[in-house]
Amino acid sequence: MLKIMHRLINNTGKYKGRIRASYITAFFKGIMMKVPLILCFFCISWFMQGQMDKKKCLYLGLAVIASVLLEALFEHLSNILQSAAGYMVFADMRLRLGDHLRKLPMGYFTEGNIGKISSVLSTDMVFIEENCMGVLSELVTFIISQGIMTVMMFVMDVRLGLLALIIVMVFIVVGNLMLRTSEKHSIIKQEVSESLTEEVLDFAEGISIIKSYNMLGEKSKRLTDEFDKSCKESINFEIAYSPWSMALYLTFGIGTSLVLAMCAYLYNTGEISDIYMVGMSLFLFDMFASIKGYYSQMARLTVTNASLDRIEEVFKAKELKAEGKNELVSASEIGTGSVEIAYDNVSFAYTDKDVLKNVSFEVKQGGMTALVGPSGGGKSTIASLLARFWDVKSGRILVRGEDIRNVSLGCLMDQISMVFQRVYLFQDTVYNNITIGRPDATKEEVEEAAKRARCYDFIMQFPDGFDTVIGEGGASLSGGEKQRISIARCILKDSPIVILDEATASVDADNEWAIQEAISELCKDKTLLVIAHRLKTIKDADQILVVSNGEIVESGDHSSLMNMGGIYARMVSLQAS
Ligand code: ADP
Repeated sequence: MLKIMHRLINNTGKYKGRIRASYITAFFKGIMMKVPLILCFFCISWFMQGQMDKKKCLYLGLAVIASVLLEALFEHLSNILQSAAGYMVFADMRLRLGDHLRKLPMGYFTEGNIGKISSVLSTDMVFIEENCMGVLSELVTFIISQGIMTVMMFVMDVRLGLLALIIVMVFIVVGNLMLRTSEKHSIIKQEVSESLTEEVLDFAEGISIIKSYNMLGEKSKRLTDEFDKSCKESINFEIAYSPWSMALYLTFGIGTSLVLAMCAYLYNTGEISDIYMVGMSLFLFDMFASIKGYYSQMARLTVTNASLDRIEEVFKAKELKAEGKNELVSASEIGTGSVEIAYDNVSFAYTDKDVLKNVSFEVKQGGMTALVGPSGGGKSTIASLLARFWDVKSGRILVRGEDIRNVSLGCLMDQISMVFQRVYLFQDTVYNNITIGRPDATKEEVEEAAKRARCYDFIMQFPDGFDTVIGEGGASLSGGEKQRISIARCILKDSPIVILDEATASVDADNEWAIQEAISELCKDKTLLVIAHRLKTIKDADQILVVSNGEIVESGDHSSLMNMGGIYARMVSLQAS
């Protein structure tokens, strides 16, 4: 128990002091809980000895009221100190987790960890903050109460005290065996819950594909299997847990009966008086209630252990090399025509196999560099390394002469806008989706960006204009509309470098025209890195790099590459025909 408490407290950061203070209030609450019982005992004993008078009666009444009020006060203080701190601890922890996730390489999110992140955020953290933080001080209360009861037994009669102590020991043995079982199963239960979350997410995200390929039966079978597994594991947990829980109840019943039998025996032999016998019957059913309550609560805390393991596992995922503190010189300081981006002997691998091999090239400020080549050659990878979605394996990437690993992520991302083929819009208003890149923009600036991105007109046709809430992932908009809103986002952000994954590949002719215009607006006076799929759009690029098998195999402008008669020339003639 101490280990789990210690672990929980270690995770409470700056609220450690508050949580520890709550143990003191819990300690006093434990004492106050037993005071009315003790007073009752005195009351009965005075009555039986004929010593009760009005004054004593009044004092006893006042003392009972005072103890009940104090108990309520200590309970309240415990709650404020601990449960409230629990919520604050987890609010902080979620923010820290967000910051940590931001620094992880993209690979972490594509390697099946989304289910883990979801269940850490939605199950583990919620479980601990709602169920466990408030339990900590309660455990202290239980220990104190049980201690007081056992001491009282010794005060009454040493033999009774010893019997109570033995029964407490039996509780400890049975309780610990129960906790061990519960701990083992809670780890499995959490794992099953994680894979269930993953399956549900996968099903929900792929629902359109599932429907269109009529895979509802097949996919929902996998989902049903996961539900079955989760159900079976919960039943297994109950089957393994309930004998121990029953044993705990039996210990309680048998222990209480043994104490009663011993009292009756001692009373019969005249070794304890009437008063003690009455007092004992008063305490009897409260005698082991605290230790029983303690183990029932502890069972919850074992789940905490497994939850903390999973939270820590996400926190342990290796971040990209610590972001540097350097700032970049501003784009205007280096001037048009000088080198803005340089790839210097860059190699990279997602797993073991090298995807990029010794890639070197330079991009001049205000110029356009196009990456072309067969699919799977490494074009997108080259672009993602610039935004530090991953870090290079060897070599370096420089922006205005500074290795991007030495620059703070915030500063780097201020310099870069990215337009992807697959646009993601958040379930929020159109307005907020546009201002993501610059939350401090004025309404006029947002409207101006929307006009330049050719999306103002269709936004104004929505019933709530810019305040219209977009469905999750942009579900309520057409592909072209989503694309133009994402371009408005970049125009508003106005960063000097634009990475463009040729965005018109999957839209209709009307939208293509509007998107081309929006892109021309976005790219004015910018340094451009374009991943090109259709070669006619990059004819005027200052530099065209042909990427194949992770290497730059040809480079030059359109006419020099055409004269070369290599891969590029073949691609152009193929597309033309
Ligand atoms: P292109 O943009 O030229 O089509 P990519 O850069 O997307 O090429 O891919 C280059 C290679 O890297 C391909 O073999 C692809 O399968 C692999 N690859 C791309 N993304 C990942 C990833 N997240 N994890 C592992 N391999 C990847």
